[in-house]
Amino acid sequence: MVLYDSTRGNNEGISSAEAIKKGISQDGGLFVPRKFETLTIDEIVELSNKSYVDRAVAILKRFLDDFTLEELTECVIRAYRSDKFSHKDIAPLTAINGSLNVLELWHGPTCAFKDMALQILPHFMVKAIEKTGEKREIVILVATSGDTGKAALEGFAGVEGTRIIVFYPENGVSEVQKYQMITQTGDNVKVVGVKGNFDDTQTGVKRIFTDNAIKARMDAKGLMFSSANSINWGRLVPQIVYYFSAYADMIRHNRIAPGEKINFVVPTGNFGNILAGYYAMLMGLPVNKLVCASNDNNVLTDFIRTGTYDKRRQFVKTISPSMDILISSNLERLLYEITDRDHQKVSKWMAQLNENGYYNVGSKVLDKIGKYFWAGWSNQDETLKTIECIYKEYNYVSDTHTAVGIDVYDKYVISTGDLTPTVLVSTASPFKFNDSVCKALFGENEIEGKSEFELIEFLSEKTGWPVPEPLKGLDKKEILHTSVCEKDNMDEMVTNTLGL
Ligand SMILES: *Cc1c(COP(=O)(O)O)cnc(C)c1O
Repeated sequence: MVLYDSTRGNNEGISSAEAIKKGISQDGGLFVPRKFETLTIDEIVELSNKSYVDRAVAILKRFLDDFTLEELTECVIRAYRSDKFSHKDIAPLTAINGSLNVLELWHGPTCAFKDMALQILPHFMVKAIEKTGEKREIVILVATSGDTGKAALEGFAGVEGTRIIVFYPENGVSEVQKYQMITQTGDNVKVVGVKGNFDDTQTGVKRIFTDNAIKARMDAKGLMFSSANSINWGRLVPQIVYYFSAYADMIRHNRIAPGEKINFVVPTGNFGNILAGYYAMLMGLPVNKLVCASNDNNVLTDFIRTGTYDKRRQFVKTISPSMDILISSNLERLLYEITDRDHQKVSKWMAQLNENGYYNVGSKVLDKIGKYFWAGWSNQDETLKTIECIYKEYNYVSDTHTAVGIDVYDKYVISTGDLTPTVLVSTASPFKFNDSVCKALFGENEIEGKSEFELIEFLSEKTGWPVPEPLKGLDKKEILHTSVCEKDNMDEMVTNTLGL
């Protein structure tokens, strides 16, 4: 069986069901699998004739082996359904020119890539509760930079045995993102705006998770916390699937030969998405380079280039808000693997980050990271120009996050000359961040005075791209959540909500 340990040294050796239920380890570390099974090239090639559902089962069973195949298949079928995903391939691959292929991860119910994981996590969670004999009710606590919140709400709303509380930075998300959340229906959901940025919000949630006094009061009430943030293993593991799926489609479309290496370019924030790509590589997926694309909050670019992770810098609110992050939680999992699972080093660095705001991993670790990763960033003007260029050249409408990736990919090619076939991971529908997209395509004057909701229609009329079903009539929906709190009062909000 695949067992799970903490990155900070608690060798729990727990099952995947336990890891998914708990979310985060008692010692503050993240759960990681003790081993990565590898697939042969033949096994990977076989995936190319399969549906997304079958591909998912083939990958997930290598990690969630305490689930029966039947249980796993049921979770997968419930998650990747045609009434939830508007594209039959679930995660379609589109070629936009000779070497660049776009993996579109935004055909789900919230129009961003978080659906790929958050549509399945609740099903894992319910099964995990059953399997571990848990009697307490699960309370999912989420900090969101915009997309996770709605995706988690969509996933957990109405799921028996669970409640969900979502915190979002009040002024740090787009209007569309905000409306998606504050109009959420369901008896088991609560949505709260926080007066602070995403890092404040995430820090607040982490603090509540590790607050023993709150935990004791929860226990007394028959409640327990879990997490739907990308620190939860059940969030991360479904993301490994689409790296294999993209590779299988590259073979299916005859864009590569079996075994040929490819690059992935990933617009990155919390480092969950790109980490799943690294895990896929550990499982034998032929990967040349993982290109980590950041916006003005370029803490990861600096880290991957210098070995120093330094969060002591100005937080920048950008047009790609889901990547406005200065503390990339999942980097901890990469450091754990790269150091051959040296939990002492990892714990030391995380403590330094917490106490001093920075750490340095030294040249040996840096060299090893550089073998697999390349990093770059795109400022907001460059991102807007990229949206315009890609549309003019290829008639492809890209959202701001995806455009950060495309711009960084251009920089990668210029800097390295590497022409390896490449998959760009596209993380959101352009309709979700439509004000920036319209500004880039049609100019400031054309969009002046129009709300984000009017711009959805405008973008569709101008480009001929259809409005995604979940975004139709969003502003007409009833607002159900109006709570707002100070960043230091998040714990109070939780205890009040739960009646502790
Ligand atoms: C969450 C998100 C990202 C960042 O992904 P991470 O896994 O946090 O690195 C990028 N783009 C969009 C649209 C997102 O929602």
